[in-house]
Amino acid sequence: MSLDINKLLRENIRTLKPYSSARDEFSGEAVAFLDANENPYNSPWNRYPDPRQVKLKTRVGEIKNIPVQNIFLGNGSDEPIDLLFRAFCEPGKDNIVSINPTYGMYRVAADTNNVTVNLVPLSVDFELDADALLAAVTPDTKIIFLCSPNNPSGNALKNSDMLRIIEKFGGLVVIDEAYIDFCPEKSFLPVLGQFPNLVILQTFSKAWGMAGLRLGMAFAKEQIIEVLSRIKYPYNLSILTQQKGIELLADEQQKLDWVTIILKEREKMIEKLKKYPFVVKVYPTDANFVLVKTHDPRGIYQYLVEEKIIVRDRSSISFCEGCLRISIGSPEENAILIEALDGLI
Ligand SMILES: *Cc1c(COP(=O)(O)O)cnc(C)c1O
Repeated sequence: MSLDINKLLRENIRTLKPYSSARDEFSGEAVAFLDANENPYNSPWNRYPDPRQVKLKTRVGEIKNIPVQNIFLGNGSDEPIDLLFRAFCEPGKDNIVSINPTYGMYRVAADTNNVTVNLVPLSVDFELDADALLAAVTPDTKIIFLCSPNNPSGNALKNSDMLRIIEKFGGLVVIDEAYIDFCPEKSFLPVLGQFPNLVILQTFSKAWGMAGLRLGMAFAKEQIIEVLSRIKYPYNLSILTQQKGIELLADEQQKLDWVTIILKEREKMIEKLKKYPFVVKVYPTDANFVLVKTHDPRGIYQYLVEEKIIVRDRSSISFCEGCLRISIGSPEENAILIEALDGLI
């Protein structure tokens, strides 16, 4: 399928002339930096960071095996989510389609941009109905947001269902793969080149353990990445984020080791949780958290807070009645949770 990005873009974005920073226009070895009104003292913090993030992007490209022109780096993946709305969705007119329940930021970004959200419920087992999703598309639908593994349910959606949606829909399909490192289903990243309307979101906040750095990724065809780069804040990633990111990305084995530990802990946690009389159901998970249906979510949540243990009460979310979402922590943290829950029986 061919896709005319220009037709999909908002008119004002199509014609927008981006802010051009001094460092954008010059690439060489200068002997005096007198272009950006920086203070000459307090090196290296006195200098603006690289707006194109060349070194960090090159490293990400190596790790992900993706050309740099297909990579956007943002202040968390929340940044590209917002930018996609701003680039493609006309406020007060266009809409997006997504699933229910899912990650709350799609709606927040939609509401901020005055864009309507058409939510299609997942089944009671949180399975995707691709036909129902496609039926919710209107002529003003610009983006479909999918999340796999899905937050807060934890399960991966079927790749065959997502593929059908990518192939049938004429707008952008965003697949949020924030938890893909914990999941046996394959990432769509290796087949990115086959789908001009596909945007894949990933993050360094989960498996890579860098939530505090704020470093997220979007992968898409070059034209889409160019648009996001054109409308981002020029210096969206600080020197600290870029430097520390490069440093921490040197050790891929560390991430793999962490994932191995977390997956082992996850299985232990599931077995323990299943045995409690107040647990109705532990949902299958492909992520580093588990959704647990209980008889008394608020009571358990409050009790845990008093024990200084914080979990996420998702019981007020539609289709998550009774549910708590529990992240898999370190073996020590998980033992503290289990000991506290033992106190309830
Ligand atoms: C945690 C999470 C993210 C990551 O957000 P960052 O802004 O990169 O920290 C993205 N999508 C989903 C579904 C998440 O749960």
